[in-house]
Amino acid sequence: MSTGKINVQTENIFPIIKKFLYSDNEIFLRELVSNATDATQKLKALTSMGEAKGELGDLKIEVKVDKAAKTITIKDKGIGMTAEEIEKYITQIAFSGAEEFVTKYKDKVDKNVVIGHFGLGFYSAFMVAARVEIFSLSYKEGSKAVRWECDGSPEYTIEENTTKTDRGTEIVLHIAEDSLEFLENSKIEGLLKKYCKFLPVEIVFGTKSEWVPSGEKDEKGNDKENEIQVENIINNPIPAWIKKPIDLKDEDYKAFYRELYPMQFEEPLFHIHLNVDYPFNLTGILYFPKLSNKFEAPKDRIQLYSNQVFVTDNVENIVPDFLTMLRGVIDSPDIPLNVSRSYLQADSNVKKISAHITKKVADKLEEIFKKDRPDFEAKWDDIKIFVQYGMISDDKFYDKASKFALVKNTDAKAFTLEEYEAHVKANQTDKDNKVVYLYATNMDEQHTYIDAAKSRGYDVLLMDSPLDAHLINHLESKLNNTQFVRVDADTVEKLIKKEDAQPSKLSEEEQTALKPIVEGVVAKEKYTVTFESLSETDSPMLITRPEFMRRMKDMQAMGGGGGMNFYGAMPDMYNLVVNANHPLIGKILAEKDSTVQSQLAKQAADLALLSQGLLKGEELTKFIKRSVEMIN
Ligand code: ADP
Repeated sequence: MSTGKINVQTENIFPIIKKFLYSDNEIFLRELVSNATDATQKLKALTSMGEAKGELGDLKIEVKVDKAAKTITIKDKGIGMTAEEIEKYITQIAFSGAEEFVTKYKDKVDKNVVIGHFGLGFYSAFMVAARVEIFSLSYKEGSKAVRWECDGSPEYTIEENTTKTDRGTEIVLHIAEDSLEFLENSKIEGLLKKYCKFLPVEIVFGTKSEWVPSGEKDEKGNDKENEIQVENIINNPIPAWIKKPIDLKDEDYKAFYRELYPMQFEEPLFHIHLNVDYPFNLTGILYFPKLSNKFEAPKDRIQLYSNQVFVTDNVENIVPDFLTMLRGVIDSPDIPLNVSRSYLQADSNVKKISAHITKKVADKLEEIFKKDRPDFEAKWDDIKIFVQYGMISDDKFYDKASKFALVKNTDAKAFTLEEYEAHVKANQTDKDNKVVYLYATNMDEQHTYIDAAKSRGYDVLLMDSPLDAHLINHLESKLNNTQFVRVDADTVEKLIKKEDAQPSKLSEEEQTALKPIVEGVVAKEKYTVTFESLSETDSPMLITRPEFMRRMKDMQAMGGGGGMNFYGAMPDMYNLVVNANHPLIGKILAEKDSTVQSQLAKQAADLALLSQGLLKGEELTKFIKRSVEMIN
């Protein structure tokens, strides 16, 4: 037996590490099982190259919990380590690496830094263990088994061991008093399922019961089954994403989706298989879930793996924000995990990966659009939010998506942006040569206006998604000479300003005489009374709300924040438009009895308010009474 001293300057490195890592101490298991996997894979590689002789045998990794002895054991049948290798890899490299970590991040540790990403490896064992033993027998011919032990102080012992006779490494963690929760089977099984679900080497954790046919029949003649205990294998070593797309059917992709999200019962709409090996390594499968017309934080998130080891399901800063609405896995050893998230975005590899995924997603959508337009249209409502978010937030995505993104009109007919322009250009170009896109945000509430616009031969888009308000602004900045106007922003004549205004039936003087009468029947601070020459078949009076005002209000309601608050604080302002050409208006003006006159004006104004849902409370009650009297 010999003793040695771990090569670190800081004597109290363990308590510091332990404190730093406490919030994420569960990653010790991931690190140790990953090491066991690496050791197994290395042995397989050496064997296939003919450098390691001897039988591979059963290569499963075993994880065991002994509650009474307060130990967790991780056992592999990989390459093992000689005494020299333990000294070299475990004591020198690992410990000096840890010291570097401490010096480097002493002042920088904050909650946003995902601790597990530092790749502390073996060292993380001391986050939960008071004492760690390594039993190892190298695959090399003539090797002797070794036992290494360390209690978390810089002193360790290493000696020959006679009890270990099989090849590989066993790490025995003597769990510290403050980490006893890790001695629960359910806890360890949960962690294995979280981090090791797709590791490339099978991991056994205890046994589970299985029912198998016994070959006998019971009294009723049914096949009898016997309960037997079988190894409880935690992982699927060959997950779909590492297979070739050509070897997978649609069913396999769906099955893998269920494997990833066992609690998710709805099937994905479609998937994208990512597979790049130059200039960076990336594999993965992304799924498009059905997104409702809501904008909410995703629950089942994209999972990030590094060589099949689960790293996180928080891919923020690794993929563009809008892609986080998708589901699936991304596996890339080239994503640097040992830097804080704020640096990730600046990393050139991460940028390339992010751009690549964005492109793939756009290509896939375009492919479906081109191949099967009806299918694309059918799925549109479920992916609309996603595509719109992408278009607004990512210029590269916009460039591609603007070719297949759809808009739907109030008759549910879908158009691409290009098709729509062609559809409305002739009839909806105003005198300044701007193409005006009319839109509604609510088919019921804006029914009168939609109707009026349609009777003019105009087309009306339905823009009712929570992102449409933003998209409209964005499209106006992208599309040449195009303006969006909501159907109730103005009277139908003025929605699209063309030269040929209708002649008015009221003279200037008549309008001046009538104006105060109309103003007298509505709340002056809310409604601005104007006159317009509409057609005789339009309503006598109607309410409009200027596009600019409404947008500011909408933005504020969506939490536009900042500068928008100023507009949001402004009162709701509307126009009360009097149709100078309507016979009823002429009648009101001609009325000699001033009581009757204002009663008629009031009735007409109330009708306009009513059609906008603005007539409420006492005013509404009075209106109904008055109407009944008038009918009588
Ligand atoms: P890393 O895995 O990042 O290299 P670790 O501290 O986890 O850092 O491990 C240091 C080295 O110790 C490994 O690179 C490997 O050579 C060796 N090692 C660790 N665990 C095992 C194991 N179970 N079997 C064989 N070698 C191992």
